[in-house]
Amino acid sequence: MIGNDVPDLAEMPDDWRRALAVVAHPDDLEYGCAAAVAGWTDAGKEVVYVLATRGEAGIDTLAPDACGPLREREQRDSAAVVGVDTVEFLDHRDGVVEYGTALRRDIAAAIRRHRPELVVTLNHRDTWGGGPGAPWNTPDHRAVGRAVLDAAADAGNRWIFPELEERGLAPWDGVRWVAVAASSTPTHAVDAGPGLERAVRSLLCHRTYIEALTDQDPEEYVRSFLAGTTGGAADRFGGRPAVTFELFPR
Ligand SMILES: [Zn+2]
Repeated sequence: MIGNDVPDLAEMPDDWRRALAVVAHPDDLEYGCAAAVAGWTDAGKEVVYVLATRGEAGIDTLAPDACGPLREREQRDSAAVVGVDTVEFLDHRDGVVEYGTALRRDIAAAIRRHRPELVVTLNHRDTWGGGPGAPWNTPDHRAVGRAVLDAAADAGNRWIFPELEERGLAPWDGVRWVAVAASSTPTHAVDAGPGLERAVRSLLCHRTYIEALTDQDPEEYVRSFLAGTTGGAADRFGGRPAVTFELFPR
């Protein structure tokens, strides 16, 4: 325990074989999660990435037609660095992803295809961090995160989206946890140390995006960002750098 009765972060469960990470944009997983993913794939676990969009509206100086394919390439490269070979895109429109049954159905279909025990997503709440003055989250993150939490149950119910079974996707009720990264109220963590160098290289794969975002040297920017986020929770995790998650058991 540290001050203010904030409990220590528990170790993330380890007794699973397949994880599916579903997020809105290329780079969402590299801004923190990738260090955990590297550790998981090192341990022989299978991790698949599913992205709701291609991030085609993410670079002001690049029109969506050119931006989408480029960011897809950068995403595939960054996934490969941490041992993820399967990256799928649901082709919702970047910036205007709508929470609703269409999104839930697409994510439930992905869960049925890959049959994960652990599903990972990014902060679905209104803000980054809690309390007054916390920055507002983006609509795509809110929509996708909430839809992922819902689709984990949808995937197991044959009557909610019967058309998926007609497409050969049998119900999968095997999701045991949904882990939300970058939550303002994390409960669990993974030691980021062993995967940190690969997390740096993984985020650096989003070079076009990062160069448009900051004038700082890309590697300096990436290193200081990941050191900051993984170091921020160390005092709740035995002094170790941590990738934190809010874990929702099912
Ligand atoms: Zn994003």
